[in-house]
Order: sequence, then structure tokens, then C-alpha cells
Amino acid sequence: MALKNQYLVDLLETVKKRNPGEPEFIQAVTEVLESLEPVAERRPDLVEAGVFDRIVEPERQIMFRVPWVDDNGKVQVNRGFRVQFNSAIGPYKGGLRLHPSVYLGIIKFLGFEQIFKNSLTTLPMGGGKGGSDFDPKGKSDGEVMRFCQSFMTELYRHIGPDCDVPAGDIGTGAREIGYMFGQYKRLRNEFSGVLTGKGLTFGGSLARTEATGFGLCYFTDEMLRANGMSFEGKTVVISGSGNVAIYATKKATELGAKVVALSDSNGYIYDANGINLDVVKDIKEVRRGRIKEYLDAVPTAEYHEGCRGIWSIPCDIALPCATQNEIDGESAALLAKNGCKVVAEGANMPSTPEAIEVYFQNKMLFGPAKAANAGGVAVSGLEMSQNSERLSWTFEEVDGKLKGIMKSIFAACDSAAKEFGLEGNYMAGANIAGFLKVAEAMKAQGVV
Ligand code: NDP
Repeated sequence: MALKNQYLVDLLETVKKRNPGEPEFIQAVTEVLESLEPVAERRPDLVEAGVFDRIVEPERQIMFRVPWVDDNGKVQVNRGFRVQFNSAIGPYKGGLRLHPSVYLGIIKFLGFEQIFKNSLTTLPMGGGKGGSDFDPKGKSDGEVMRFCQSFMTELYRHIGPDCDVPAGDIGTGAREIGYMFGQYKRLRNEFSGVLTGKGLTFGGSLARTEATGFGLCYFTDEMLRANGMSFEGKTVVISGSGNVAIYATKKATELGAKVVALSDSNGYIYDANGINLDVVKDIKEVRRGRIKEYLDAVPTAEYHEGCRGIWSIPCDIALPCATQNEIDGESAALLAKNGCKVVAEGANMPSTPEAIEVYFQNKMLFGPAKAANAGGVAVSGLEMSQNSERLSWTFEEVDGKLKGIMKSIFAACDSAAKEFGLEGNYMAGANIAGFLKVAEAMKAQGVV
């Protein structure tokens, strides 16, 4: 869908010129501006206030050197990032990605998406994201700790519980958050809720580990029900085998579906009997191993090299939970041809624009990442509330609130889509509903 509104066409040109060599960021901005075309037409006051021009430019971008010493005594240098994108509705909030593919463009696309996602949660959180090109894979605990301490030794001066509250993402789990929290506390001499996803013994929230995967299934369940379907008896394919994939598998199974495949960056497993999650958790959470080791415990399953092949497995519902652009037009066409009716995104921007086009052409139900995976940051927001009141809520209490939030996110996407004449287009609904709240705040706060 090409932009027609001349003001937005010009704005997108400016964004492209100003951010060369950052295709993921341009992709994310293009998708949002296309969805916002009817808003720009209907709300000249927001155009006048420069909200569109301002929202595509980060408030602050920080890049820094992260030196550390490996187990052989050799000095290593990585690059650290924190992009503080928008604080109109609350402190910057968003995860830290540790992966060799990280560069400024990846962090900016994630930070931009985070603005709208956080707005949809109904909680007061602005948008930000950070990370490093450090690869935790194959590193010892000591190396990961030294990296995290060095990373925080610079980051600490830019964050704080009322200013910017980072969390986990790819490569950053409880271990990394623990090391970073320890270093922050030492540098600041302060025990505060500056990070979320913390361990349960030092301020972490119950259900945070499960939140993104569970939330994805709660959102998908709402979307299915609104369209006369449910998870019951459905075959589900889930990519990835990290935090989001594992807990999406758990909840989808609890809701009556059969999850038949998972993957990592090397390949995918297919288990026609349904994935045995205990085996996966042991490989991934305890031993930090590879998904192909699943066959050691379940020899009747299949392993295939190459992660993209996972989309050739026939399924009713696909939940991409690995990384950006993992479903291209070709994979989407294969999913559609094999009878897939629903795609809901656990990962951030896992579908290319061509893939999304295929979903719409085939009238598939599409739950976009900003809405569908917002459960993680929503429970991070609840962790901030618990830290502020110095109380811990029960698992059931947090899970109940998560369910309520995902329900309200679906309702917001659904009704915004209807209001702008785009019924059933939850991508447009998510972008519009997420944008409007931030836009009103930006307008009210003046040109800042
Ligand atoms: P993890 O690090 O726990 O797991 C990531 C999984 O995706 C691994 O199986 C990994 O395989 C695979 N993966 C990562 N990069 C690639 C790649 N370039 N190609 C193929 N596979 C890849 O991360 P999470 O589960 O936390 O995150 C997964 C996605 O969900 C990300 O897009 C993230 O931004 C998003 N997300 C996460 C949230 C959270 O709360 N954790 C919240 C909202 C969104 P391998 O081990 O081989 O690298």
C-alpha cells in the first residue's frame, strides 16, 4: 500500500534521507505512516502540532564503547546502544538486545515500535530500546558478567526508575539482568526498580518470564473468538525456542492446541505428537543447548537444518517468535497454501511487508507484534508498580491483570480499525490506537 497523502510522502522521504543504511527502521516507520494516513487526513491539528514529524525522530540516542576481558585475558570491545525514543506518556521503557546483528538501525526500529506498543498497554510508559552487538552464545558466565558490568558502567548514567527502565530481549534473560542490576546498584548505591525482568528474590515480578508468550496467546485467543474460532484442536507452528516461544507453546497447549514445531537459528524440529515442553526447557533454560538436541530425548521427532523451512509445515495458526523479517512473501504464501488461517506475532516485526500483503490477500487473521507481544512490557510495567509500592503480587494476580490488558489491547485495535473504516485490519488498528494516545500527549505538552 503506497502512501498518497503528500505530507506523509514528504515526511517518509525525509526519514529515509536522515537515516541511511537503516532498512529495518525505515520498514517500521513506513508501515506506521501508511496506517496513519486516515488519521493525518482527519486530524489536521496533529499535523499542525508537528506530531508526525517529531515522533519519527528519537529524543536521544546514546552509543558507547563496551570493553571487557575474555577468559583468555584478551581485551574485547563491543558497541553499546540506548535509544530513548519518546517519553510523552511515561519514562522510556524497552528491552536490551544482545545479538551480533545489533546496530543502530535495529535498536531504532525496536524503539520506534515500542512507543506504540507501550501506549496500547494502557500503562504509563514511553518508548526506548537498547543493546549491543555482543554475542552471549558460547561465552562463559564470567565473560557474560564482565560484559554486563562494563555495559552498565556506561549505561547507568542515562537510566533510572523515573527516567528509563530497560528490560530483557533476545540474548538478555534473568542472568544478564541480574548482573546489570548488581552493577547499577553498586555504582549508584541505590536499590531501585531500574530494570525489569529481575530475579524473584530482588524485586522481580511473578509471571514476567511467562508474560510475552502467555500474552501472545491471550491476544490470539481474543482475536480468534471475535472471529468465531478458538485454539481448541488447532495445529500450531511456533518459531524460535527462547523465552517467548517456550511460554507461547505452554499457553497454546493449555488452551487446547497442538504445537508441532519449534526452531532456533540453525534449524527446526517437527514433532507430530505435539512438542514435549519439559524437554525443550531442559535444553534451552537449563543447558543453553541447541534445538536439535530434542531428538536425543524424542527420537520419533524430525530435525531439519535451516530455520525458514519451518513455514512449510501445514498448520492452522503460525506464531513467529524468533526475530525480525523471519517470514518473507514466499514463506507467507506457503503458509496460506497449506491452510494457515491465523498469524500472530510474538517476535518484533517478524513479517516482511510482502508477507503482510499475502496475509491480507488471503483474508488471514493477522495479529501484529505491537499488540500481540505487548504482554511482556505490560508485566514489566506491573513490576515497576510493585517495586514502587514495595510489595509483590501473586502469580494469579499478575496473570489476571495480563489477561485483562491483552483483552483491552485487542478491543482497542478492533475499535480503532472500525472507527477508521478498516474493520478486521488489526495492524492499522494497533498503529492508530497506539499513536493517538501518544499524539494527544505530545500536542498537550507543546513543541518539545
Ligand atoms: P531469546 O533470546 O530468548 O530467544 C530468541 C530465539 O529466536 C532463539 O531461539 C534464537 O535462536 C532465535 N533467533 C534469534 N535471532 C535469530 C535470527 N537472526 N535468526 C533465526 N533465529 C533467531 O529471545 P526472546 O524469546 O526474548 O525474543 C524473541 C522475539 O520476541 C524477539 O523478536 C524479541 O524482540 C521479541 N520480544 C521479546 C519480549 C520478551 O519479553 N522477551 C517482549 C516482546 C517481544 P538462537 O538461539 O539460535 O539464536
